[in-house]
Amino acid sequence: MIIIRNYRLDYDSGRGLYIVHSNQAPMCPDCGELLSGYDSRRRRVIGSDGKAYYFRLRRLRCSSCGHLHLEIPDIIAPGKHYSAEVIRQARSGRDEACPADDSTIRRWKKK
Ligand SMILES: [Zn+2]
Repeated sequence: MIIIRNYRLDYDSGRGLYIVHSNQAPMCPDCGELLSGYDSRRRRVIGSDGKAYYFRLRRLRCSSCGHLHLEIPDIIAPGKHYSAEVIRQARSGRDEACPADDSTIRRWKKK
């Protein structure tokens, strides 16, 4: 997995998803080689408004070590269904606007 910070989001209204365009050259975190596009995955994210958003994320393949890496924009927290912004709000104690249930918020705060 690669988390990118320099990117542009385009909304594809026909498919109802955001397409992530990276502005940085993707490098393999395992061996440092340049990665190339392999395929793409659709990822569902719950926003701070409680709505579902869909993102098209690229999977990249390293020609040197053969590993596959999912490219994730930094607004999406890795391994979570909620966006990074939702989690940041919950951790700062402003729970009333958070769509996640209490047990989920408690789990985030423990970390
Ligand atoms: Zn590699």
